[in-house]
Amino acid sequence: MQGAFVEHVTMLRRIDAEAVLVRLPRDLKGLDALILPGGESTTIGKLMVEWGLQEAIRSAALAGMPIYGTCAGMILMAREVIGHSQPLLNLMDISVKRNAFGRQVDSFETNLQISGLSGQPFHAVFIRAPLIERVGETVEVLASLADGTITAARQGNFLVTSFHPELTNDTRLHEYFLSMDDR
Ligand code: GLN
Repeated sequence: MQGAFVEHVTMLRRIDAEAVLVRLPRDLKGLDALILPGGESTTIGKLMVEWGLQEAIRSAALAGMPIYGTCAGMILMAREVIGHSQPLLNLMDISVKRNAFGRQVDSFETNLQISGLSGQPFHAVFIRAPLIERVGETVEVLASLADGTITAARQGNFLVTSFHPELTNDTRLHEYFLSMDDR
């Protein structure tokens, strides 16, 4: 619909996964997994409602489809956006804050240790990123910044990162995501 979707498609093709774009509910048919890209969560949310995707994604998700949200995609997967009212999928028991890193550092890069990924730390690119303010009991925290800010989390078949792995050459998070399907 909007945002950094082409970069995710490129990443998926690099790891030999077939990727198609989803704009309408019928595009979800036959898919194994879904990535919600970064971009502008209010725009994506609005289109999602208008085109009937909100309910379609929710029912696929609740039937067990793995869903990965990066940045704006993470916001859409949250139960709550603090201080904002906007259409959400309400899939993960997390509360997020938008554009939470303040102006001076609204975009930055850092190396992160991510639980479940082997090898060197992950180079994480943050662009006007949201932060995860609260996680529910069944949410597993996968990565945090040095100050404790949570930047990656998983709850069953749902994965979120507040950063953009699709803007690097590191395919490990996409591979991790594709291995999450235990249906
Ligand atoms: N600031 C955007 C939002 O609130 C997210 C930015 C991004 O996806 N890189 O929706």
